[in-house]
Amino acid sequence: MAEHEHVRVAVIGSGFGGLGAAVRLRREGITDFVVLERAGSVGGTWRDNSYPGCACDVPSHLYSFSFAPNPDWPRTFSGQEHIRAYLEHVADTFGLRPQIRLNHEVVMMRWDGDALRWEIETAQGRLSADVVVSATGPLSDPKTPDIPGLDGFPGKVFHSARWDHDYDLRGKRVAMIGTGASAIQIVPSIQPDVAQLTLFQRTPPWVMPRMDRAITGPERWLHRQLPFTGKARRGLLFGIRELQVTAFTKHPKQLGAIESLAKANMAKAIKDPQLRAKLTPSYRIGCKRILLSSSYYPALAQRNVEVVASGLKEVRGSTVVAADGTEAEVDAIVFGTGFHVTDMPIAERVVGADGITLAEAWKDGMESLRGATAAGFPNWMTIIGPNTGLGNSSMILMIESQLNYLADYMRQLRVLGGRAALGARASAVHAWNRRVQDRMKRTVWNTGGCDSWYLDANGRNTTIWPGTPSEFRRATRAVNLAEYEVVRARAEQETAGDRAGTATGAAEAVA
Ligand code: NAP
Repeated sequence: MAEHEHVRVAVIGSGFGGLGAAVRLRREGITDFVVLERAGSVGGTWRDNSYPGCACDVPSHLYSFSFAPNPDWPRTFSGQEHIRAYLEHVADTFGLRPQIRLNHEVVMMRWDGDALRWEIETAQGRLSADVVVSATGPLSDPKTPDIPGLDGFPGKVFHSARWDHDYDLRGKRVAMIGTGASAIQIVPSIQPDVAQLTLFQRTPPWVMPRMDRAITGPERWLHRQLPFTGKARRGLLFGIRELQVTAFTKHPKQLGAIESLAKANMAKAIKDPQLRAKLTPSYRIGCKRILLSSSYYPALAQRNVEVVASGLKEVRGSTVVAADGTEAEVDAIVFGTGFHVTDMPIAERVVGADGITLAEAWKDGMESLRGATAAGFPNWMTIIGPNTGLGNSSMILMIESQLNYLADYMRQLRVLGGRAALGARASAVHAWNRRVQDRMKRTVWNTGGCDSWYLDANGRNTTIWPGTPSEFRRATRAVNLAEYEVVRARAEQETAGDRAGTATGAAEAVA
């Protein structure tokens, strides 16, 4: 076998998760790592999603790293270009560039049980790593439904996450497919310019007003001069959301009170009762992500917009056909149809200790230990893994919790010495998931009467964390070695009993 580079840690992806992991590894004194990025620049989902109107619906002072505050956020809900610039800035400020390998898509990674390391094949050659941190993100691979006749469509087709900026939509007849968080930002951004917009709405979303405003010069000055004011602002945003969580997780009926606010948001702009009826959801608010927009409904009320309350079923030449038979002739089709979340493609590219892929291991649904590690995949950790998503707060909080876990994982490995890896015990993974799924039963995501990308093909919610971000922070503060077995090179494998003893001993050594 040809010699190739070996590193302590290979991080995959350079979005919030990957860059955060890189900063955290540095802070733990680990410098022997690389960040493998498939694209030509950093930024993850905030690089790939550049559609008109793209912005975050979590306030910027909360949707940023606690260790890299930005006093200069221009708006309360900043746009994609500012969030992307922030991530570029993080890469520069923390000196990460030399370790970031752009255009290094990971093609395959295999656990080598003899050498106790991951063999990684990238688009630009091979390397190996003791530990893999998979930070590819759940919103990275666009999903386009399999629509009969789409291949024969003579016009332009693209997905919201792969916007074609060279294609001019002005004066065109456009079909927008989907009414999720992406589509409701695209619709008001393109509506004034297109000749006709036909919106295919399979399920209406709940849309609340978006309280976006410019952050004033004096506010920014204050955050620059007195950094604790920025922290206080973040703390307030965090606290409010923390208090909201039990309504989502334990008392979904309480959410009913805010449905009237969303209905008022609609009624203000939509005067036609028939259109209002089409746009009114029939499930509990919060079951799908609550969307924020003050411009979506006003755009739908315009004369050049038609809402088809049915999904796209077929394309016949340049005619798009809905499931209810409605037809429209269009020049372009824009899919705002989301991402491969519960069937993340990276899982096909990870081959674990038993020679099976993560996708095979997860064929009945994703399962990990504390959102991070998986049985049969030693020294492999995912950032934003199963059941780490949030319905109402900032994912950066969850990412930072996972970085704490990563840091402790690396400390535990150091205590064990060079010739050992850590593998999540199947029993611990099952116990964790039983607890997660038990708590999930009462949540609005499972009881609210909707279908959403939070649920997998079996109807199991494998994406959302059924608690507060603080609870997750506590659950991931440190690695509990009783949940792991110490994996030795095959040649020196010990009995299961010895391994358990070693694990306990290491736990004591670290405690
Ligand atoms: P999404 O929430 O998964 O929405 C996909 C949409 O496509 C749904 O409305 C779905 O309908 C629809 N759809 C699928 N197949 C269809 C068909 N054949 N005909 C008509 N409609 C069809 O995807 P997304 O909007 O890209 O958002 C994904 C996630 O990204 C969000 O939930 C959020 O976490 C994140 N995001 C955040 C922001 C923000 O911060 N503002 C912006 C964009 C995205 P059904 O509802 O019936 O399934």
